[in-house]
Amino acid sequence: MGNEKKLSGISWQDFKELPLAEKGEYFQAPPCHTLIAQQFSRAQLEELCALATKIRRISKRREGSNFLRTLLSDHRAMLYFAQPSSRTYLSFSSACKLLGLSTIDVRDSKTSSEVKGESPEDTIRTFSSYADMIIMRHPVGGFAERVAWMLSNTNRPIPVLNAGSGADQHPTQALLDIYTLERSFEKIGGIDGKSVAFVGDLARGRTVRSLAWLLTLYTDVKVYFVAPEQLQIGADVLELLDAAGMEYEVTQDFAAVMPKSDALYMTRIQDEWDVEGESTTIDTASFCINEEHLDVLKETAVIMHPLPRRKEISTDIDNDPRAMYWRQMRNGMWARAALILTTFDRQDEVNEYYADYDK
Ligand code: ASP
Repeated sequence: MGNEKKLSGISWQDFKELPLAEKGEYFQAPPCHTLIAQQFSRAQLEELCALATKIRRISKRREGSNFLRTLLSDHRAMLYFAQPSSRTYLSFSSACKLLGLSTIDVRDSKTSSEVKGESPEDTIRTFSSYADMIIMRHPVGGFAERVAWMLSNTNRPIPVLNAGSGADQHPTQALLDIYTLERSFEKIGGIDGKSVAFVGDLARGRTVRSLAWLLTLYTDVKVYFVAPEQLQIGADVLELLDAAGMEYEVTQDFAAVMPKSDALYMTRIQDEWDVEGESTTIDTASFCINEEHLDVLKETAVIMHPLPRRKEISTDIDNDPRAMYWRQMRNGMWARAALILTTFDRQDEVNEYYADYDK
């Protein structure tokens, strides 16, 4: 304590230019923003996963749910979603309700005073007057960081949780993905030593960028990046993985990767970022999974997807025990509740309650 780095102690220009891992050091002290995957340590991920499980179990009983709802009933969260969202919005909103936080939301910036020419920064500062936390999704990469820096330098420095920014980061999706992997591999040694294949649009999928980084925190994880050439993972991500000493392979051969993988992380084509419909010219047929492929998968493998899906996962395999995407989605609510509670430093109350809880 005392020498923690704070956004109020650095200029925007200096902060903006820091490498990602160093940026993360500025979010550890209150107001504890969650902005990038690089801010998490393995110990923090493990604590959040354990807390998510406790919240999940406690909420199964009425008295447990009632207890959870008292925890943050004196807090309000602003959900500002300036990009389409179903799961992330609903899971954050459900996580808030689970913990008793009341929520206010703006889901369309056209309904805010931005249309009257107000700057996005002023709009957010306005929101901060009515809330104790801002959960935001924005099309502009880095905008959540800018907002967090700006609010940290006001007399109302409230936490900002990045619920998806541009094509660059989706730290809370990565957190729930880690929670899903941890639960899936609980009985077979956890995430260490596993192989994870990312498949689809890796160039513009922000969930892949965030999760690939978190996997560097585990031991002996091997990653496959499986995509058509035009949609392959960015050099900037590979540089980060190289620096972290992670083993990976960049390939187009999905058939060869399938039997070797412990997790297949499927993604859709992110054509909202197309400039001139270029995605339509890319053949993605061999980056899909259907019933025919199930035989070659490991029995313990899991198939994940941040959703929404298109054709990359056939609905025929939804009932296979290895299809994890619907459970993965539900895990988002528990993981996000754990994160919100930790943001306000109230996790000990759940830990104490759980110690006496009749499991
Ligand atoms: N829901 C995820 C996201 O917001 C994945 C996607 O949209 O394809 O990035």
